[in-house]
Order: sequence, then structure tokens, then C-alpha cells
Amino acid sequence: MITTSLHNHCNLCDGKNTPEEMIAAAVKAGITDFGFSSHSYACFDMGASVKNEREYIERIKSVIKNNDLPVNLYLGAEEDLFCPVAFREEYDYIIGSVHYVKQGGRIYGVDISAEVLSRCIEESFSSDPAAFYRAYFENVAECARRKPDILGHFDLIRLCGGGIIDFSSHDYIDAAIACIDECLKYDVIAEVNYGGMARGKTLSPYPDEFLLKRIREKNGRVIVSTDCHDVNLIAFGLDEGEKYLKSLGFTSVTVMENGKLVQQPL
Ligand SMILES: [Zn+2]
Ligand SMILES: [Zn+2]
Repeated sequence: MITTSLHNHCNLCDGKNTPEEMIAAAVKAGITDFGFSSHSYACFDMGASVKNEREYIERIKSVIKNNDLPVNLYLGAEEDLFCPVAFREEYDYIIGSVHYVKQGGRIYGVDISAEVLSRCIEESFSSDPAAFYRAYFENVAECARRKPDILGHFDLIRLCGGGIIDFSSHDYIDAAIACIDECLKYDVIAEVNYGGMARGKTLSPYPDEFLLKRIREKNGRVIVSTDCHDVNLIAFGLDEGEKYLKSLGFTSVTVMENGKLVQQPL
């Protein structure tokens, strides 16, 4: 099993459990390198984000300092494109993610519900799903240009977009591939994210398989993430992700080792 897990949400943002509960569960599950990645402060989405970045940093630093369990702990952040962190130099790593599109003065969460996604496309994209996913992918490319260490859930729009967007159309596939090619220019580590599967909403991790194959062809790096919000799913996808990447022909995966993101053979 992959024993690095860096994409985790505790109750300092929208996770269910305390940092201490998550660490205990991680150790029990055999995780050796565990990081917290709370959502960066978003004044327009306080339910999901940290309430105060400084307090988040100090709380996790204190948890790390006082930890006596056999696990290496890290302070990370899941930085939304529209909500840059204020203290980037203090984090061990940054996961760059896109959770919103902005259009016509409005902002929409892309992972809230099918209803919100439909309303967004209708109100702000003239009922054209292609215009919506182009805007979304432009945000993802912009996110990669900021060079986060890890690029989060590349095609998060799959979570609620089934039946709204034709994910098998040539146009969608071409737009997604053009975007991943652009992102890889910035040497980001692409996340293989099991958050949608953990919610029972997607049948495969993000990004879709054709995109993972593209990443492999381009010799891009990948890391497996649980996107955990609940201790009951603390290691969800780590074992499966390793097997999946092998089956797709990947020969290595990124892990955290002594505070550094390094390649581990598969
Ligand atoms: Zn996210
Ligand atoms: Zn997340």
C-alpha cells in the first residue's frame, strides 16, 4: 500500500474529525507520512474553508510538535485558485485546486450539486455545457501556472456533471487533453484523487483514465490522494490507487519522504 497521504480535511475546514482523531486513524491504517490540507480561506464559502488561516497553521504546527505517534506529519493547504493562501512559505506543500467558476459577476461551486451546476450553465453560459467546461479548464490551467506542488482533482466537474456534460464527447476529451498538456508544462504532480469515489458519486478517481494515460505518455508525475473528510475513509484509495497506476503502466508514484516529494518505484 502507498503509505503517504497528503490530502486530508479535518474539522478546521469541512472535515468531520479533529486533527488528533485523523492522525490516530492514519497510524492504525499503516500510513507513515500524513499531511493536513485544509481548504484555503474563502470569504464566500466559509462553510468549507478554514475560518482563520493563522489559527489553522498554529493549530496544526502544535499538533505536529506534540505528536508522539509513529508517523511523519506535514502542514499543507488545498489552495483554491480564487483563494490564495497568505503564508505560502510556512506550508510543507500546496495542493492547487479549482472548486469554482466565475462568470458574469457570479461565482458557482462546481462540486455542490447537479442543480447548482445546471443553474450555472443556464444562467452564465447560455445553457452551453461546452462553454462551461472550457471556462473550468481555463481555471485549472491557471491554477497549474501558479505552480502548486500538486494539482488537485483535475476533472472535479465529473462529480456532479453526469447527465449534464457529455464526458465521452470528442469536444470534451480534446478540451481536457489540451488542458492537461498545458498543466504538465508547469511540472505539477497530478493527483489521482479518490474523493468522488469515497462519496459513491464517481466510478473512477479523478482524473479520468484517458487523462491518466496522457500523463503517463508525457512522463508526468502522479500522487494518490484520499481527499479524506472522515476517519472511516482514512486510507480509501491508497491500495487501489497503487494497483490502478500499475495497471495503466506507471512505473513510479510520488510519495513524501523526510519532508520531500520523491518518486517511489511501483
Ligand atoms: Zn478540493
Ligand atoms: Zn480536498
